[in-house]
Amino acid sequence: ASHPTGDEVSQPTPPTEASPSSYTPGRLLHRSFTHHPASVLSAKASTLFLSDGRSVLDACGGAAVATIGHGHPSVLDAISKQAHDVSYVHTQAFTTPAAEDLANLLLEGSPGGLDMAFFVGSGSEAVEAAMKLARQWHFERGETRRVHFVARQQGYHGNTMASMSLSSNVARKIPYQGFSYPHVTHVSPPFAYRYQGDAESEEDFTNRLVQEVEDEFLRVGTDNVIAFVGETVIGATAGCVTPPKGYWAGIQAVCQRYGILLILDEVMCGSGRCGAPFAFLQENVQPDIVTVAKGLGGGYAPIAGVLMNQKITDVIRNGSGAFVHGHTYQAHPLSCATALEVQKVIRREKLISQCAQMGKLLEELLRREIGGFKSVGDIRGRGLFWAVEFVQDKKTKSPFDPKIGFGVKVQQDAFERGVAVYPGAGTIDGHRGDHVLLAPPFNITQGELETVVEVLRESIVSQEALHG
Ligand code: PLP
Repeated sequence: ASHPTGDEVSQPTPPTEASPSSYTPGRLLHRSFTHHPASVLSAKASTLFLSDGRSVLDACGGAAVATIGHGHPSVLDAISKQAHDVSYVHTQAFTTPAAEDLANLLLEGSPGGLDMAFFVGSGSEAVEAAMKLARQWHFERGETRRVHFVARQQGYHGNTMASMSLSSNVARKIPYQGFSYPHVTHVSPPFAYRYQGDAESEEDFTNRLVQEVEDEFLRVGTDNVIAFVGETVIGATAGCVTPPKGYWAGIQAVCQRYGILLILDEVMCGSGRCGAPFAFLQENVQPDIVTVAKGLGGGYAPIAGVLMNQKITDVIRNGSGAFVHGHTYQAHPLSCATALEVQKVIRREKLISQCAQMGKLLEELLRREIGGFKSVGDIRGRGLFWAVEFVQDKKTKSPFDPKIGFGVKVQQDAFERGVAVYPGAGTIDGHRGDHVLLAPPFNITQGELETVVEVLRESIVSQEALHG
């Protein structure tokens, strides 16, 4: 489908010389052994051009990855320049201006007291590294008993074994019982739509959640706990859940009371996605360690970061002097140069304030155009990070029969109409819930946003007719 945008930015044009789709599907393993996803030939700004000639408006930025859209010329130049300058050096012996400059740019002004950065290749690697860094910090202070992490239900932190252990994505853990890092427990998420009592005030809800965390620390033994880990704004699993007022400040106070570190996972909600350079800057909290990924490289290169405050760096710098961890491809020059230019584009083109502004428009459109539908239980989010949760019954909030897969059906229907959204599933009373996630590039146009919401509306109408 090709959609009119009706605004000032010119529409991307399809590739003139479409390379033939000459491959035979079958040898490349995607997640599914049997299903072969649509093939993308090229992409420009917020539009993907498929090899079958269709175009798709990317309203989820991959999975909240694309921040500046596709094909930005200055990023392409930076990639080319770095590839010409130096492709790789091992970080044990060498550094590069790209990696140093990226750390300096991200930590300019020490946001929230963050002091140093460690770059890896993916969000899962960043979370694993954050877990190990936190452990090493306690170890170097002689607190060697500490092995336990407290995370939250309905959270997602990655797919490697330790990051998966922090995660609560039930479906992804089923075949791997017994594979996990054993010292993790999960508390309730700050998820008002599902967990706040009808007669409970926001303040009481916050206090109850914070108390639950403190009780869990006491149950485990406060001097056994390494860190509390949570997504500042919960992403894929629960779907763009913003915490109630005072939640993170409350959690931080409890952590500090017992010498427990606070790790915020901003792999999905960070890097400007929520309308601020870091989501925690909107929460009156100063985390000890922050993980970032997806939006950091904007999809142009695989890169993630572990950012730590001075409390962490001081102990290790004055102790063993080195983080006992590393990967061959950490701080890869090509990835760092790419992310550096993506971040410079964001600053130059003032895309974080644009994200906040377009986010307001998206919220307005969603509430106006689909808020009244009987299957739309909740619309929630911040910046350009929004979820629409679907329910069978709006009053009781009961989910659809998981066999229907209502959220996936809406996603598939929207895709056929030319808009990509991201399906997700929280867990509701042990059952799979349904939502779709919207996380478009920060420079998506007003006309494109209108198209996204119009298509989503049409898809919901069509799926309600079939399953409502
Ligand atoms: N943490 C959060 C909050 C995420 O959303 C994700 C991925 O969706 C991860 C960690 C894992 O990142 P990756 O898929 O890059 O390994």
